[in-house]
Amino acid sequence: MTREYAGAMAEPTIFERIVAREIPAEIVLEDDEIIAFADIAPKAELHVLVVPKTARYRDVVELAAGDPDLLAAMVRAAKAIALERADGDFRLVFNTGELAGQTVFHVHAHVLAGADLTEESL
Ligand code: IMP
Repeated sequence: MTREYAGAMAEPTIFERIVAREIPAEIVLEDDEIIAFADIAPKAELHVLVVPKTARYRDVVELAAGDPDLLAAMVRAAKAIALERADGDFRLVFNTGELAGQTVFHVHAHVLAGADLTEESL
């Protein structure tokens, strides 16, 4: 795993520890670049986090600038998960910055799907 952003030598995030299998997670998809697992506090019938294995990018803005192909791979993973586990439709959320609710500073996409998402659409 690559940990190159400023401050990366501080404590590993919870997601790095999941990638390293130091803490358990309900993994739903994994390949060389990406891991996806159930959110521990689900906000929808299906709530999965799609996470690049590299810890190089803090948020989606850094990822889009640094590796747009990896961002595209995250979107493809989200679609595959929504197709496999729900009806194929999904909401993709990237909390970006503390004031937007980001709590883990290792880029991740929330994939929300399942019944009744339209009742709380943006
Ligand atoms: P953020 O608020 O956008 O940074 O999202 C972080 C997400 O990680 C939250 O939805 C948490 O519920 C989730 N989370 C925190 N710890 C764990 C864990 O150990 N397993 C799975 N999800 C977690």
